[in-house]
Amino acid sequence: AAPLLKLRGLEQVFDTKKGPVAAVGGVDLEVQAGKVLCLVGESGCGKTTTARAAAGITRPTAGAVEFRGKSLTDMTPGEKTAYRRAVQYIHQDPYAALNPTRTVASTLTAGLKRHGLVKNRTEARAKAAELLQLVDLTPPESYLDSYPHQLSGGQRQRVNVARSLAMNPELLICDESTSMLDVSIRVSLLNTLGRLRDDLDVGFLFITHDLAVAKYFAWDGEIAVMYLGKVVEHGPTPEVIGNPQHPYTKALIGAVCEPDPDLAKANAAAEQLRSAEIPSLTDLPAGCAFHPRCPAYEPGLCDSTEPALERTGAAGGRRRVSCHIVARDQRRGSVQAAAGR
Ligand code: SF4
Repeated sequence: AAPLLKLRGLEQVFDTKKGPVAAVGGVDLEVQAGKVLCLVGESGCGKTTTARAAAGITRPTAGAVEFRGKSLTDMTPGEKTAYRRAVQYIHQDPYAALNPTRTVASTLTAGLKRHGLVKNRTEARAKAAELLQLVDLTPPESYLDSYPHQLSGGQRQRVNVARSLAMNPELLICDESTSMLDVSIRVSLLNTLGRLRDDLDVGFLFITHDLAVAKYFAWDGEIAVMYLGKVVEHGPTPEVIGNPQHPYTKALIGAVCEPDPDLAKANAAAEQLRSAEIPSLTDLPAGCAFHPRCPAYEPGLCDSTEPALERTGAAGGRRRVSCHIVARDQRRGSVQAAAGR
């Protein structure tokens, strides 16, 4: 079956005063139904731009966004409407995303009424209560008539999630949706989202700069690490976190300050970066864009040709890495394995 969401050669170029900026430079990714794909990377790496294109908020400069095998550009108006309902975007700021003059019930039922999904006020209120139950805001009667200012940040974000569930989504795009919350509230919301994924078979494109969050939420799914608009490493979460291959992934994991053996063991890699500075998108380095910072940089190789995002690891696996050295080691390993046969 076709993946739920497929990004094919996605490019997003913005015109700026300093000239065109490729915020996303050719991204190929898939999200399967009921699965999580986490996009991680530092701010400015293109995560949100990718997510906005995937949600149909912006039109990509090149490449395609496909939902259930159909490109957005080929959809009929009816299919587009269905897509907009099936794909819901949950923003970072739970405060800004809610209308302060609307009660929770009014917020949750506005979309239902607009799409003709409820017949009358009683049915709308019952549906709103059901949605609040789904996001663990119980008893719902305590929240239905509240205004956003009467709720905590975590409760407001749950209302945002409930509003998106009103449309029976197949894919939730969460853009740093838990990053403004305190740690214990964040974990609790991640647990709720995980339950929705399992119970409702909802897929997630989950954007975070926080490796610990990615590890927690996407352990059964996949991680794609982005750097300067490109995916540099992608694969099943346990493989990427437990055995990072791209020097940038190693540094990113090593920069996480927490007593987690998997995340802490690469600390040395973070400290070995040749430069802390991220190059500008308007003046991308030649060859591998990571080469001015990379501790494994080889002059003449890394600064001349851009490495492709190539499959690596066991045959049939889903691991991809864009690094000349990883590709060379992989080739050598294959030759040695063939010679030893
Ligand atoms: Fe580092 Fe070279 Fe690999 Fe780029 S291609 S990540 S510079 S080793």
